Amino acid sequence: MTVVTRFAPSPTGILHVGNVRTALHNWLWARKYGGRFLLRIDDTDLERSKEDYVEAIRADLAWLGFDIDGEERQSARFALYEAEFDKLKAAGRVYACHETSEELDIRRKILLSRGLPPVYERKPADAPVPEGVAPHWRFRLDHGDPIEWTDLVRGVQHFEPKTMSDPVVRRADGSWLYLLPSVIDDIAMGITHVVRGEDHVSNTATQIQMFAALGAAPPRFAHEALLVGTEGKLSKRLGSLGMASLRDAGIEPIALAALLARLGTSDPVEPVTSLVPLIEHIDFARFGRAPARFDEAELALLNQKILHHTEHEAVADRLPATITAARWLAIRPNLMTVAEAADWVAVFDGPLAPPPVDDADRPVLTAAAAAAPAIDWGADPWHALTAAVKEATGAKGRPLFLPLRRALTARDHGPDMAELLPLIAKDQAVARLAAG
Ligand code: GLU
Repeated sequence: MTVVTRFAPSPTGILHVGNVRTALHNWLWARKYGGRFLLRIDDTDLERSKEDYVEAIRADLAWLGFDIDGEERQSARFALYEAEFDKLKAAGRVYACHETSEELDIRRKILLSRGLPPVYERKPADAPVPEGVAPHWRFRLDHGDPIEWTDLVRGVQHFEPKTMSDPVVRRADGSWLYLLPSVIDDIAMGITHVVRGEDHVSNTATQIQMFAALGAAPPRFAHEALLVGTEGKLSKRLGSLGMASLRDAGIEPIALAALLARLGTSDPVEPVTSLVPLIEHIDFARFGRAPARFDEAELALLNQKILHHTEHEAVADRLPATITAARWLAIRPNLMTVAEAADWVAVFDGPLAPPPVDDADRPVLTAAAAAAPAIDWGADPWHALTAAVKEATGAKGRPLFLPLRRALTARDHGPDMAELLPLIAKDQAVARLAAG
């Protein structure tokens, strides 16, 4: 069996962190089993779907590195839905309904007030049909056997169809609701695994009967626990946090993927620099049913950790040209984002305005300025410089190192000076020490 998964967003908005998590898990699963990962654009709602969003979705998936093996659009498949719908209608599995939403509302309230479940009540076959009212359409659930499946995340699931309303699958204006086209497509596209949020669990129960009604075996299902923020529900801001704002904040796509691959499992989040190790480890059995907590601070920290392992060639196209491989290696332990690398350009090549020198530090700088011109910059200039200054002034430890770091980098903190100094041109360094 070739694994086929799909990510099926509605292009009615940009992808947020929760959608991306679903996309990631589908992608990882397909890649792990050498299968196919499809992008299905769920654009049956022609009014709310926007081409800009379709493009943004593609761009975000590309940014994340989730390559797709095919793209389908539901709006191009209405003829197929129509044909399958006709079959279900002929078989009596979809039927016309004429109630208005007000009528349904009242009925629901009455049932609830009597302590009964607010399940849709089918009309008797001979009930009068109101004239001039275009019908909407429901799928007739089979009230026989319970609906069961073994969910890859949630384990055995069990629904009593009698306790469920026949779902509306088509509106009176002929437009499609999500449920039926999704099943028709999952069959037509040979989807083997449906991975999506647990808000779809009861949809799955009805869809399992739709697969059967259309003569197909259902795929496997994995329903993931919801993503929540640190204080419970995913806040409005986080819930709508798009890839563009994460990118602007300097978050690397791999950092987001590394976090989302492990949230909701008890496995530690690893600072990986490629998607490959995430592919090997994806296993729905490792996901728990408790909500997965998304913490932006954790993401920022992971981003930083990952940068500390990131090779120059992976980021070179986003670095100033003067940040060479050696310079990148020296500064990466001090970066929160790739963009911050630009702040180090002046440290290497100037112009730099070192802070005013404390009087107490002046002897160290005077000795350094005197010793520096004779030092071989190609060997180990930092150790040669500090040894010479120590010998001339007796300074050691912080009173020796800090004034030198300040004069040479205009900062109190930064990379190991032994690594940094050979990467600063000798005449620059000598001039900075002399300026002190
Ligand atoms: N368009 C649906 C959604 O975004 C797809 C759900 C599914 O994966 O079947 O909720």
